[in-house]
Amino acid sequence: MGIQHRKRINEVTIIGGGAAGWIMALFLVTKLNAHNKKNVKVTLIESPRIPHIGVGEGTITGFSNMLQELGVPEHEFMVASDATFKCAGRFVGWNLNKQGKPTSFLNPFIAGGDLEGVPTYHYYRKFGGDGRSYVGVTQPTEQIVLNARSPKKIGDAPYDMKTPYTYHLNAAAFSEQLANIARKRGVKYIQDELQKVIVDEEGFISQLNFEKKKHYPVQLVIDCTGFRSRLLQDALGEPFMAAGDSLLVDKAIPMPVPHADPNRIMPCTTARAMSGGWMFEVPLYSRLGSGYIYSSQFKSDDQAWDELRAQLGERVPKDASPRVIDMKIGRVRNTWVKNCIGAGLSSGFIEPLEATALYTIERTARLLVNYFPENGIDELGIRQFNSILNAMYQQLHEFIVMIYYTSNREEPFWLAARNDIKVPDSLLEKLELWQHYLPSSDDVDNRFFFTHWTWYFMLEGKGWFNGRDYPGGGRLNYQAWKNYLAEGKQLFDRVPGALPSHRQYLDAMHEYARAQ
Ligand SMILES: Cc1cc2nc3c(=O)[nH]c(=O)nc-3n(C[C@H](O)[C@H](O)[C@H](O)COP(=O)(O)OP(=O)(O)OC[C@H]3O[C@@H](n4cnc5c(N)ncnc54)[C@H](O)[C@@H]3O)c2cc1C
Repeated sequence: MGIQHRKRINEVTIIGGGAAGWIMALFLVTKLNAHNKKNVKVTLIESPRIPHIGVGEGTITGFSNMLQELGVPEHEFMVASDATFKCAGRFVGWNLNKQGKPTSFLNPFIAGGDLEGVPTYHYYRKFGGDGRSYVGVTQPTEQIVLNARSPKKIGDAPYDMKTPYTYHLNAAAFSEQLANIARKRGVKYIQDELQKVIVDEEGFISQLNFEKKKHYPVQLVIDCTGFRSRLLQDALGEPFMAAGDSLLVDKAIPMPVPHADPNRIMPCTTARAMSGGWMFEVPLYSRLGSGYIYSSQFKSDDQAWDELRAQLGERVPKDASPRVIDMKIGRVRNTWVKNCIGAGLSSGFIEPLEATALYTIERTARLLVNYFPENGIDELGIRQFNSILNAMYQQLHEFIVMIYYTSNREEPFWLAARNDIKVPDSLLEKLELWQHYLPSSDDVDNRFFFTHWTWYFMLEGKGWFNGRDYPGGGRLNYQAWKNYLAEGKQLFDRVPGALPSHRQYLDAMHEYARAQ
């Protein structure tokens, strides 16, 4: 496979200034121009008229590594972005128990660990957990979340991850913060609206025409124009692979409200099943981000708005009117085409459940740094970049389909989500295997966020493994498990008393920031 474009690349043009545009800009300017070098000039151009999507408040683990690597002080980030800690996803009502009552469970970020070389879930399945959940017996997360504690003590070092956590953040404030840092590091910022994309005879984008600047030649261009995807899909015609046949939700109504109890800020995102989809509850420092994610096949916008208001009660202002967002669920066939790379919503969105969109942007940025075409664009780098991102999107898609598919709710939306959708073969194979064997690290592609632990926690919470007899009992030491349970109980019962409330920690951090 030969070189496609021999020209050296020392300029990158990013179109769009939402979270995707600024994460890409900050990553590239920081990583490619380390040690005060000026290898690559980064310019970000955004329309002064077209607003950002303005939602996207949950993150997943790894996010703190990104902030650290980019040299963003934790307290500055948290204060500027109205951020809080997130120790788990809490799923409420996604499944019903034998009595038909909704269940709830946590999907934490800490692995369950091994005992005598065997994953502890083998013991849990064989011997039980003395009436406690699997999360409850393996880690402090349940005590932290249910008691609204901070995962760390006041005065602990920034980014101290003894108890892993990530964050909830205000999307608009976060983008603004990244923009300020990126501009200080040399990213050139221009406000102008893209009107036309000129593609040369080899299929490369050669020039962009803006409202003010009519002719803007480009070397490498990053499409961060959101769902519009003005370059990758519009101009280059890269096909969009819609996921509507397997994921039914396609609309969102965000509705930020005051906290029900400002002293009880939960360190988790809650995903609450609703009759036509699900509702998110993302606690920020100053308010609760909430909203309904639903399927237009099963709910009109008015019905969804009524259901959301009923759930939130008097916290919704009387004169509030719904902002309905159309979500394009799926992804482009290839994220990098010729000299154009998509990042953020322009390249794909596998819906908000699991809050993976900012992660996909980070992953795209990291890969672009790895395969940056300094010596000219070549097919090998593009192929590897696309193959990794395709595998990532495939895994996100499979995992999220699983969360709906394994529900046992009976409303029409939920029946359709398990009976009328196209289930990926790879998912059916996993679920069949895990009726007979417990998950193992060899069963999944552990390169990405959803490791075998994540799969296990989710399916355990949904009751998937209940009532099945799994092999491997001969390897298990019952006494060791009894000791493990007793030691864990002693340790985790102390957690609520040993940690400040989430609110106290955040107040102290804001106070510290004001005093600086
Ligand atoms: C309901 C909902 C909930 C979500 N929840 C989460 C979550 O919990 N966690 C998570 O990680 N993600 C979440 N997301 C996704 C997240 O919001 C996005 O991935 C993130 O905000 C990045 O958006 P973006 O930058 O790609 O696009 P946008 O924010 O839409 O930005 C597009 C940019 O392109 C510019 N632009 C567009 N056209 C032109 C033009 N012609 N010329 C110049 N500039 C142009 C605009 O001005 C803007 O600056 C959610 C999304 C939705 C819809």
